[in-house]
Amino acid sequence: MRSSEDEEQWDKPWWILQTSGKFIVGSAWYFLREKHEVCLKYKYIWSAGIPFKISFFNWRLWKQRIPIGEVLVRNRMSDGVVCGCCDDGVQETIEHLFIRCSFTNFIWRYFAGSTGVEGPFLQLKDTVYKWWNADASAKLKPVLMVVPLFICWQEWKRRNALKFGGSMSYLSMRGGVANNLILLAKQLYPWIHHLPNNWPDLVRYLTAYTPRIDCKVVYWKLPRQNTFKCNTDGSSKGNPGPSSSAFCIRDDQGNLVYAEGNMIGLSNNLSAEIVAIRLGLEYCSNNNLFPLIIETNSLATMKMVEGVWHRPWEVTIEVRRIQILKNGLEVAIVHTLREGNKLTDFMANIVFSFAGTDSICYNDFQDLPSEAKTILNMDKRQIPNLRIRKFQNGDFAQD
Ligand SMILES: [Zn+2]
Repeated sequence: MRSSEDEEQWDKPWWILQTSGKFIVGSAWYFLREKHEVCLKYKYIWSAGIPFKISFFNWRLWKQRIPIGEVLVRNRMSDGVVCGCCDDGVQETIEHLFIRCSFTNFIWRYFAGSTGVEGPFLQLKDTVYKWWNADASAKLKPVLMVVPLFICWQEWKRRNALKFGGSMSYLSMRGGVANNLILLAKQLYPWIHHLPNNWPDLVRYLTAYTPRIDCKVVYWKLPRQNTFKCNTDGSSKGNPGPSSSAFCIRDDQGNLVYAEGNMIGLSNNLSAEIVAIRLGLEYCSNNNLFPLIIETNSLATMKMVEGVWHRPWEVTIEVRRIQILKNGLEVAIVHTLREGNKLTDFMANIVFSFAGTDSICYNDFQDLPSEAKTILNMDKRQIPNLRIRKFQNGDFAQD
């Protein structure tokens, strides 16, 4: 716990295990509980999107805890059970029922056919690992991982149906597995409309899938006449890690007024962005550079300063300082895209390369590093940058 250092308010405890600073029993439990190494095979069996009953069944199967002939014999509950799913008259063992039994083996080969997973499928665990280690596209991979679980589940359903006098044809078995896989794909990729409705087409579609590309023109906009613009940016090498904050002030012609970059010690991206705004605002306030537009490429920071978004406890003090500073001043905080904030981005990064100094500043264009001069001149002439983004997870990535 840590107390707030804001003099105007009562001291207040923060629960530092939660970003909100509020106490939740779950976070204390997570902190205290013993953590074991994550076991990959159970992680795959219990991955998201698989119905609970199917995960649970496969977990029991992996531990050989299902009431099948082999297990009943081993526990002396029966003398012998013959496989009811084929006419081979062999003992009902896990290896037979889930791999070698004729229908099941057809199913394994059918689903492997269009994927590049190679048989022969002779042993259960070996087969499962073949699917889990399959070389596939990023979108197909999560679907392939689940194929063995759905096949075993379907075979178990068929076995039980036959045992209790019902029936299940090869085609309805195949259809059952395919349906489950298509449902899973729809759940994994809800933003892809028109996913194919059969297995070979689904495999082809997910193999060839390429995200849509969006291209946008972004440029640094000149402020209105007699207005100053202060661009801010924070950078963190590792999150948390060594961090820096920078701000660059320009006039209505796009000429440099002042630029500064500071190392701020161990911090994270969000804090670095917020400190950058505070430092920029302090400088403008001390030098009376108003009216002022502060431009940040961190949407979250802008929303937190506006009080619209909830802020994590560790930035509360900085945000309060900014709010108090800007009170009564002619300041607007606006958001831009990273491509429109290049000069400050450059400043925030270059400060890392000055060994032995924690701060750099420039108030003359001629002193700027040549790369910064180029950026500033391009901005001044309103030359645009291209922002190219991939369509992912149903939306274009924001930053
Ligand atoms: Zn059989």
